[in-house]
Amino acid sequence: MTAERPDMHLNQHSATGQPGICILGGGQLGAMLCEAAKRMGYFAICISPDDNDPAARWADRHIKGDPSDPLLVGSVSEHAAAITVEAESIAPEALYQSHFRGIISPGAHVQQIVQDRRLEKTFLAEHGLAVGPFALAETLDEFSTQVAAMLQTSVKVVAKTARGGYDGRGQIWIHSVDEIPSAWRSLGQAAVVVESAVDFTAEISVIVARNHRGEKCVFPVLQNEHRNGILHQTQIPAPQPLAVIRTAQELAVEAADALNLVGLLTVEMFVLPDGRVWINELAARPHNSGHVTMRTCSRSQFEMHISALMGLPMAAVSLITPGVMTNLLGDLWSRGEPQFDAVLAESTASVHLYGKRPRPGRKIGHMIHVAASLDEAKAAADRAFTALGHHSVAATQ
Ligand code: AMP
Repeated sequence: MTAERPDMHLNQHSATGQPGICILGGGQLGAMLCEAAKRMGYFAICISPDDNDPAARWADRHIKGDPSDPLLVGSVSEHAAAITVEAESIAPEALYQSHFRGIISPGAHVQQIVQDRRLEKTFLAEHGLAVGPFALAETLDEFSTQVAAMLQTSVKVVAKTARGGYDGRGQIWIHSVDEIPSAWRSLGQAAVVVESAVDFTAEISVIVARNHRGEKCVFPVLQNEHRNGILHQTQIPAPQPLAVIRTAQELAVEAADALNLVGLLTVEMFVLPDGRVWINELAARPHNSGHVTMRTCSRSQFEMHISALMGLPMAAVSLITPGVMTNLLGDLWSRGEPQFDAVLAESTASVHLYGKRPRPGRKIGHMIHVAASLDEAKAAADRAFTALGHHSVAATQ
């Protein structure tokens, strides 16, 4: 018989009886979810390994432990109204809670799909959701064949590890068949997805909130700029023709319905020169690009995620002002604390820091600039970024 855990009989309601929302993972997405949940009258519980995790510090109650441990999750969330994740790395097993009567977001089957690029691409293709050309490979032979075939029609291809890659990690560009063996080795000789290079004119993302009744709310479309595979800036509203906006929003809604998702779905997409839109990736949770909604929309992505979990109305979210979100990576701290005075001297700027130890390439915070026009917001964001004296490789490329 296993020993009873000390956390087994915690009452996951506040003293005033607020329903609990259990967040698995301790990063900044969890912290911002805690903030929204608490403001909306819920009791935020976070399970994460470290007391200093951003979400651990924002939660009403932090449970130190492995958020992927099904037993721990089951015991902690016993009396909560909802369980949700803030990271793709949370094991689907933690979301198989057959005795849990509340909402689980995303369901284990969705977490399984978004965790594995093979399942994700296959799911999209099988449901007729527009996706670029891709192939799957599990052995060097398969990999060689797929890459060689794709290089016939595409000047370069990108190979991505099926699992575990993020922010440009776990992927490699291949320009000729000579590079195949080294690419295979550098990707860890494990299952990969191979994609031809999409000649996109823009990268956009669409966030959909969906409750258990299937009611939905779609956010204004976001336009994203990546540097070195990491999100650098997000603009709202995406400066795209209406037809592209409509197509993108419809595609995102279709994907959320196909997954039967409760919570948030963020769909990253490529816009092609002819106006077509292809899905690149799904995230069944709040998304970095959605941070811009905190200062520009009538409700943020975090509020809508909580609303979806709790079965609240999915009323349309409206754009209050154009705005630009710029990520602040750890590189900025390489010569000491950045001088935020110049940024904050502008009344239309806000700085959000997550309380994480700075490391190159690590997301430490973000800024949001709002203005009467998107052009003005973008100019202000770029000025602020330059004023912060960004020294990283990411900024110079
Ligand atoms: P991902 O991890 O799949 O989101 O990829 C990170 C970034 O790499 C994307 O946001 C794109 O900028 C770029 N990228 C990924 N896949 C492709 C592709 N098939 N064609 C062109 N660019 C890509």
